[in-house]
Amino acid sequence: MTVAPRNRHDRFLELFPKEPAFRLRQIEKAYFTSSMTGWESVTTLSKDMRTVLEREIPWISCKAVTTLSSNRGDTHKVVLEGYDGQLYESVLMANMRNQWTICVSSQIGCAMGCTFCATGTMGLKRNLSSDEIADQYRFWRAFLTERPELPQRISNVVFMGMGEPLVNLENVKAAIHTWLQNTDLGPTRITVSTVGVLPVLEEILKDPLWPPVRIAISLHSPEEESRRKIVPTTAPHFHTRLAKWTHDYQEVHGNRRHHVTFEYTLISGVNDNAEEAKRLVQFVRKTSAVKVNVIPLNPVSGKAFTASSRQGIEDFKTVLLNAGINVTERKTMGQDIAAACGQLALTVKSGGKVVG
Ligand code: SF4
Repeated sequence: MTVAPRNRHDRFLELFPKEPAFRLRQIEKAYFTSSMTGWESVTTLSKDMRTVLEREIPWISCKAVTTLSSNRGDTHKVVLEGYDGQLYESVLMANMRNQWTICVSSQIGCAMGCTFCATGTMGLKRNLSSDEIADQYRFWRAFLTERPELPQRISNVVFMGMGEPLVNLENVKAAIHTWLQNTDLGPTRITVSTVGVLPVLEEILKDPLWPPVRIAISLHSPEEESRRKIVPTTAPHFHTRLAKWTHDYQEVHGNRRHHVTFEYTLISGVNDNAEEAKRLVQFVRKTSAVKVNVIPLNPVSGKAFTASSRQGIEDFKTVLLNAGINVTERKTMGQDIAAACGQLALTVKSGGKVVG
């Protein structure tokens, strides 16, 4: 696996070891200011410094290879190229408030191998650096600035792109802090979605620097054996440990706005029958302040799984609702450009429009 270069902060300090600390903050602010488009526009820095920076530190850590827009215009996907030529994806989706949610990647590929997911078939290529994660926001900020006819506000970020964020913890954490310091995103507008890497979930409870973001756990089944068929990395006693973790999390972040969400992808004949729904109710009752978000399976070529029928989805939700569980259903977006959940694997589908 290729090792990521040191981040741009470290490189700056190497180039200008005597500069005061506020200079870095000034530069970080400039990165996230829409009117700043390159080192030459940061006129608060001396001309000499800008010349060196122009030569030594790329203004942005990624380059767009292809940008696609869905036919409805509510989803945009970009294939980005990193410092080593490797490709990864990022998605911009319209949300209910007529604003935008960015779906960021944290790794190139993924080692978790969830059986319904296209990214899992790639294996892990490498972790994204903190700059590469944070710059997905900057890429979409610039994309919107160039299109003033579109709504401009990015209100949410979700870690639901390529990769498992908790196995790239330090870079994910650093990117989140960068956004919290330099954008108007608050911690409850950022969701880290994880397959449930229990040792790391347990570690972040004790980490004073872990930001109080929302956490979404990809549950997909209320029982260990059946979950392992969907999520092969399921640890022994997964559900018992997870239930305890939700209570501990609630104790640390004890706030309704920091609820945990269980993501539940509905796969026809695998995890969507009434018995499974009842077992899910029993499991959810053992946890704390949890919302269940059901996700209709998005098709992935080469995978045998199919989506539950509309009736099947409604029946499943009804069992949960009747038991008093807080249930939502994720709207499917961007299927025509392979930008929907579980579809990111550097494929460019023939639907949608290439816009860049
Ligand atoms: S669902 Fe998430 S964790 Fe599982 S293989 Fe896909 S990207 Fe990795």
